[in-house]
Order: sequence, then C-alpha cells, then structure tokens
Amino acid sequence: MDVTVSGRRVLVTSGDARAAVEVARLVESGADVTVAAPEVSAAVQDLADRGLVHWLPRAVDLDDLAAADLVVTGRTHEPPLPAPTVVGTVTLVGGGPGDPGLLTVAGREALEAADVVVTDRLAPLSSLATLRPEVQVVDVAKVPRGPSTPQDAINDLLVQHARAGRTVVRLKGGDPFVFGRGSEEVAACEAAGVPVRVVPGVTSAVAAAAAAGIPVTHRTAAQGFTVVSGHLPPGHPDSTIDFAALARSGTTLVVLMGVRTLGAICDALVEGGLAADTPAAVVADATLPSQRVVRGSVSTIAHDAADVLPPAVVVIGAVAGLGGGGTAA
Ligand code: SAH
Repeated sequence: MDVTVSGRRVLVTSGDARAAVEVARLVESGADVTVAAPEVSAAVQDLADRGLVHWLPRAVDLDDLAAADLVVTGRTHEPPLPAPTVVGTVTLVGGGPGDPGLLTVAGREALEAADVVVTDRLAPLSSLATLRPEVQVVDVAKVPRGPSTPQDAINDLLVQHARAGRTVVRLKGGDPFVFGRGSEEVAACEAAGVPVRVVPGVTSAVAAAAAAGIPVTHRTAAQGFTVVSGHLPPGHPDSTIDFAALARSGTTLVVLMGVRTLGAICDALVEGGLAADTPAAVVADATLPSQRVVRGSVSTIAHDAADVLPPAVVVIGAVAGLGGGGTAA
C-alpha cells in the first residue's frame, strides 16, 4: 500500500480470509479500521474481539462510505485454482511470533511458491500481503472459545489440496512444532502419501521474552529454560506437568497459553518452594505494534496482569527482572 494510512479511517468491505490479510496490515500500519461485511473470517473476528478493528456485521451502506477516508474493496469471487497435474506438496511454515520481519527467508520462499496458503489465528497475516493474486488463502483459525475448525478437518484440507496437485503452505504462528499440532499435520500427510516438509520458525517461547528485553538464559541468572503449556491448570486430571518440580528446577520458566491459568500456576510454584519474590513478566502481542509488557513477581503477576488478553507469554525467574526497557504499557 503506497498511501499513508496511519490514523486514517479505512473501511474494508469484505471479511474473507484474503481481506483479513489487508485488515491485519492496515491495523499494523496504525489505521482506524472498520470492516463492514455480514460474515467475516475467524481472523477478522479475532481482531474485532481484541478491539483492534470495528466490525459492522452487515452489508456496507452509504453512511459507512461517507465516514471513511479510504475504502478497500474485497474480491467478489475466488479465482480458479490450477488444474490438478501430479500430487502436490505440503510445507509447514513457522511464521514467527507476529512481526512479518521474523518470518524466515525459507518461509518466505515457500510462501512465494504456494498455490494455497492455510493460515492459523496467530500466523503473521501481513506476511501474505505479497502473495500472487491467484493464491487462495484458507483461514482455519482456531480462536480460543470462538469459531474453530477441528484438527481432522485441517489435516484433510491439506491432503485434499495437495492431492489435487497444488503446492500447499500451512502457515503457523511461531514454530510449527511448539504447541502447534504440526506433527499431527505431518503425520496425516505422510499417511496419505503426500510429500511434506517443515520450515522451522521463531518461537514465541523465546522471542516474546526477547522482545521485552528478557533473555531466557543469562550466565549469572539462569542456566536453562523450561517451556510449558498453561492451558490446563495445575492439578487438572489431564495435566502431566509437575509444577513442584518446576519450582525446584532452577531454570527460567516460560508458560504459553497461560493467561487464564496464571494465578493457579503461580500459586502452585510458590507452594512448590519457589521464592515469592521471584521476578515474573507477561508479554502480550509480542513483536507486534500492540505489544504490552507487565512486570511483577510470581506472587503479584496474576493480579498485575489481570487485564492482559491472549496471546501472551509468561516468564518466571531471575531473568524476568532483567531488561527493564519494556515496563508496563
Ligand atoms: N507455535 C507457537 C505457539 C502456539 S501456542 C510458537 O512457537 O510460538 C499459542 C501461544 O503462543 C499463545 O497462547 C501464547 O502463549 C503464545 N504466543 C504466540 N504468539 C505470541 C505473541 N506474539 N505474543 C505473545 N505470546 C504469543
């Protein structure tokens, strides 16, 4: 986009997966974005839920147009896909934590070669802005407690597109093998005889801390780091994590998907013997313009960060007291 959109009211008249790419770019450029469309893809719905765009769930009207500085119109139909030739391929691409600059060169090359791109909620959508116009973008975002596509359906979609001879990229947030169910998608492709490869990505488990100036290791503070999922609280029957052992591990603890369970996790760590004044930080929307950092201790952080929305990474350990640059936004 050549015009400066920062601070301008931009009306987008389509909410499909391809329009979501433009919407994400506009938001990142600081535009005040309104989407007027009766239905929107999960990615747009998610941006609306997070208060980053206004969604008017109806057709565009004259008042909307009059109120806008700029209008972006969507496509009215999907372009035809290439006819099947031989079996295609699937490439799982780790898109990094959100900043399009943190997509790898190999990831970008894979995107440039794609006929179909299947995206995730946390995939860096603005990286798709340079796709050829005929590339089909399929949004299978799994929004927490929102619209979602079951994993089996995603696996089938990848296999079906590849069997139709297409070059498929599955773009995922962070690294595909860190809580990304990437290995299930690889297994599904292998079982179907579809050639599949993985392009690793910059994981938020390390990058979110770094974006807040926090090193996950530091010679005098932490000789290692442990990454866990916080999606199940300590003591949940399906949880396999020994939080008391983590409290004694002496490593930096990095928790993904732990916003909702943060209080329970911190309590379990302190009960397990972690000093109550151990530094802790929460980094939300890391590497994106909306990044927010909240700092505290393991005994205060759940309270301090009570209003933080996912996606966020929690860092607990002496290193969380380093890199004071990004104090609470
Ligand atoms: N495969 C991803 C993780 C998927 S699980 C990776 O390697 O990064 C989703 C979780 O990742 C979120 O709940 C959040 O804890 C974390 N996450 C992903 N992107 C993030 C971001 N930009 N800022 C903060 N946390 C993020």
